[in-house]
Amino acid sequence: MRRQTPAATRSAPRVRRPGLAPADGARAPRPRADRTWPLAFGTVSSILIRAARLVPLGAGEQVPDGPVDVLVERGGVTAVGRSLDPVRGVEELDAAGRWLIPGLWDQHTHLAQWTLASQRLDLAGARSAEDATRAVAQRIADYPDSSVIGWGHRSAGWDREPTVTELDAVSGDTPVVLISGDGHHAWLNTTALLHFAMPVRDAVVRETEWFAAYPRMATLVGNDGTSPEAYRRMLEEAAARGIVGMVDFEFGASRAEWAERWSQDCDLLRIRWATYADTLDEVVEAGLRTGDSLVGDPRLTMGPLKIISDGSLNTRSAWCCEPYGDAHRLEYPSGQPNLSGAELRALLARAHAGGLEVATHAIGDAAVQEALAAYAESGAHGSIEHAQLARRDDVRRMAELGIRASVQPAHLLDDRDLADRIWGERSERCFAFRWMLDDGVELALGSDAPVSPLDPWLAIASAVHRSADERAPWHGEQALTVREALAASVDGRPTVGVGSPGDLVLVDRDPLLAELDAGDTAALGAALRAMPVALTTVAGRVVHGNY
Ligand SMILES: [Zn+2]
Repeated sequence: MRRQTPAATRSAPRVRRPGLAPADGARAPRPRADRTWPLAFGTVSSILIRAARLVPLGAGEQVPDGPVDVLVERGGVTAVGRSLDPVRGVEELDAAGRWLIPGLWDQHTHLAQWTLASQRLDLAGARSAEDATRAVAQRIADYPDSSVIGWGHRSAGWDREPTVTELDAVSGDTPVVLISGDGHHAWLNTTALLHFAMPVRDAVVRETEWFAAYPRMATLVGNDGTSPEAYRRMLEEAAARGIVGMVDFEFGASRAEWAERWSQDCDLLRIRWATYADTLDEVVEAGLRTGDSLVGDPRLTMGPLKIISDGSLNTRSAWCCEPYGDAHRLEYPSGQPNLSGAELRALLARAHAGGLEVATHAIGDAAVQEALAAYAESGAHGSIEHAQLARRDDVRRMAELGIRASVQPAHLLDDRDLADRIWGERSERCFAFRWMLDDGVELALGSDAPVSPLDPWLAIASAVHRSADERAPWHGEQALTVREALAASVDGRPTVGVGSPGDLVLVDRDPLLAELDAGDTAALGAALRAMPVALTTVAGRVVHGNY
């Protein structure tokens, strides 16, 4: 039988790991970048996928009509065609007419926080400070010996600011740290403030002060839920959604930690590790450039320098050209930059000289403008992270400079009401994906997990149908088509073909949803969110199989 499906595949366990470890530990010479194919490397595999339908990602692009066979050898696609000859020693897998796309990427994650998030007190539903303190009291009653780490509250929508006094009243000596849904502030009780040796106050800890404290969270919670086992589970879940790679922007996470974890069974997907300014010198001195392997494995590479140039909408610290709608209650009516223009330029120049790309977090339109000016002056390459509010001229400038927009469409579901309220008319310039694409900006989708769930299909659905409820899409004129959103989720890869990496995903349904009415974005969004992923491979190695 030619289209033989190995029995082991048909009854596939959730994750099959052929060729997981190099038999003799032999490692190939270190490649310069993770975009080099094919690779003679111990953890890549060969596989022949029979009868898969290719999905065209380019506008008006033609692909073969009907299913074709796709051969992956030594980590890369070497042949595509009908009835390919079997290859000795290469496992075959029958796609049975499923659809094949390049593997999905999440271009903005905080993986330690995401791994931790499942163990945290979920406060995303808290409608008031009282709601939150009630949940904390309950948690302490349930687990009297544990610190409380909460996550997800959005106090900007509450009728008043939370106080430390009210949190102390329900928590006493139990340390409590409640991290806001956007990650830009934390509400600590006095016990936790003292633990971190921070000045006692009656308000939340914001921005830079909070970012500095965050890496020390582990000292508060002991076993902090980021064990290799916890990471492995998280990586498997990501693979099950079709993810093959992620950019990790975790705060205070060293590359040594990733290197160690990598050897502890966490080498499942591609990871680009980002440095922050505090470890920039060390990275440059080590000669690490963006794309370089960190441990001799091309799947774990050096990512960009990450700079957080302004704050967030929720915390009213995103730096805007005009004041917020509720500026009367703000110390900085238009938000503010986290670092001066000179500091920003100096960092970009240093990274650029060291061969590093730069990922600059800029949410407000003033921050976007300033970041673009800094890229232009320094000649640095990379991305603007979020670009949540942008002026049309700056979108064009971004295209001219070749700066990528690394955006998180699911944020618009959470932010639409607040943005309408405090950005008013400006909300038509929010998450302006249509402008970006029309002006020639390269779009790269992500989640900012744990700010929104690490699910690329949710991001794609949100870009296509800008609503999470019964309401009409929020500024539907900025929506993307399904094809555009998918193309923005594959790390710039074209349609699967000879020369593609063996980072592939099979889905049970046409991901372009050609059978649905292209105008019914609610139906498209619902179908995208529920997209069933049958198979994920990284460098030809099966990392998820669900047949
Ligand atoms: Zn982030």
